[in-house]
Amino acid sequence: MPKTTVSLQYRFIVALSLVLLMALAALAFISERIIVPSLLSEENNDAKASLMRVKQAISREAEHVGMLTRDWAAWDESYHFVEGNNPTYVEENLSRLILDDMKLMLIAYIDMNQHTVWVAGTDPDTQVYTSCAEAKGDCSWSVPIFEALVSDLPNQAGPVERDTLMVLPHLYLVAQRAIVKTDGTGPPVGTLVMMRAMDSEWLNHLSDETGIDMALISESGAGHGDDDIDLQRLDNDRLRAEMWLNALPNGYHLRLQAELPRERFRSGVRIYHFAMLWSAGLLLVVVLVVLILLRRMVLKPVTKLAAYAQQQREGDTYQRPAQALLERSDELGIMAQQFQYLIEHLHDRSANLFALSYLDALTGLGNRRLLDERLPEVLQINHEANRPVAMIMVDVDHFKAFNDHYGHPLGDRCLKQLAKALFKLFGVKSNLVIRLGGEEFIIVLPGVGQADAIQHANELRLSIERLSITHHHSPTSDCVTVSAGVAVSTSQRPLSAAALIDASDRALYKAKNEGRNSVGVFEE
Ligand code: GH3
Ligand code: MG
Ligand code: MG
Repeated sequence: MPKTTVSLQYRFIVALSLVLLMALAALAFISERIIVPSLLSEENNDAKASLMRVKQAISREAEHVGMLTRDWAAWDESYHFVEGNNPTYVEENLSRLILDDMKLMLIAYIDMNQHTVWVAGTDPDTQVYTSCAEAKGDCSWSVPIFEALVSDLPNQAGPVERDTLMVLPHLYLVAQRAIVKTDGTGPPVGTLVMMRAMDSEWLNHLSDETGIDMALISESGAGHGDDDIDLQRLDNDRLRAEMWLNALPNGYHLRLQAELPRERFRSGVRIYHFAMLWSAGLLLVVVLVVLILLRRMVLKPVTKLAAYAQQQREGDTYQRPAQALLERSDELGIMAQQFQYLIEHLHDRSANLFALSYLDALTGLGNRRLLDERLPEVLQINHEANRPVAMIMVDVDHFKAFNDHYGHPLGDRCLKQLAKALFKLFGVKSNLVIRLGGEEFIIVLPGVGQADAIQHANELRLSIERLSITHHHSPTSDCVTVSAGVAVSTSQRPLSAAALIDASDRALYKAKNEGRNSVGVFEE
């Protein structure tokens, strides 16, 4: 069964496709395991940073209230007022206008026993400004505030200093400072409390400052600690980021809630997908280019070389491979050159073998095969040209005796000497000088008639005799002699190759019968 060939091209396509698929799988793996998680973690960090920014902005606001509180608390007028020595203080310093100017919703003076000395502010529900010596009556709206202030330090005696948040459920920034003299000396006589509402106006200001839209939510109960953060991806476009800040009353929290756009994450993913698409496209182009180059640089020349080899195998004339192939300076060029050398070598060898198969190994004369092949052709050509063809068959006389007495090696040497002599006499291109086998030879002389052939046969016989190869065991002579049989084929009476050989053999038989060392002639 003939072997089916699979083009290298297809193997390359399969191999490169596999490489391509693996590269794409690697890209997908990298995306899934590295890029997307890192984009998500970056998004988390961004969200946390946004929350921290909001928290810092709130802290700054609280510090601002704290500084205001410090100014008022370290003021002799306030000091004397809490001591009970400044009867005009309230009238001169506390009014709705002054509190509004300072963006405060409450100001309160508390003595060392945690008793209210004075409270002034705006009821968050009714927006009515009241100013009272105690959190009672008109100022009873402030009772929950005072309860909240001590909710985390129920047994605290003396002044408190802190900036904090309050959720009641209205939201406030709260600052508390010890009331001391203007020069900072004590002893403190109480605590000054200032509160600023974190209302919608304040929230807008915060949003403008941070660039983040926030919701502030009051929340009670455990479950969250200060600075806890929670991130929740609502959908592809929105991320909810929440942060819990401790607030008063004790156990309450202020929950900062922001819905952040996921633009950065999405653009990161988009960029990555874009890069991946490009990489895949680029890989595809590389594969195509490799295939085209492979086709042009390797497959085409290889196919040419194969076609050349096939042509050399099937045809019988030798040709060089295409010049373009031989001139290549790469491996294919080397291959084409080696191919050429190989084919030249094979050609020489087969020419040698061809020659050897038509030559006799011992004497170097033509052999029986050459005679069989050439004789019919020689006869035909000469008869067509109206020319005779003569044949002389030669046989060594008593050669068996020669061999028996002088040995085979000397017999061979003798045969070689005889062949040399025959070739010397008749070895021209148009003639055939053949060793038929054993000690028999045939000479074919185209264009030679019977009379000339007999003369040539006698010359041959005499020249062998003149070689004087000693043969003491020959009944015919002291030296080696030959007998010859002559037959001629003419265009008038043409003989076939076999008939001509047979005729010369009969003529030889006659010569042997006539006493050897003689020439016999075939006569019908
Ligand atoms: P005749 O005169 O009748 O031809 O006698 P003959 O002895 O030559 O003839 P015969 O056919 O009996 O013997 C031929 C001998 O030639 C036999 C063999 O010893 C010898 N011979 C044949 N081929 C070779 C060869 O290649 N080398 C040698 N050394 N001897 C050969
Ligand atoms: Mg013989
Ligand atoms: Mg013989």
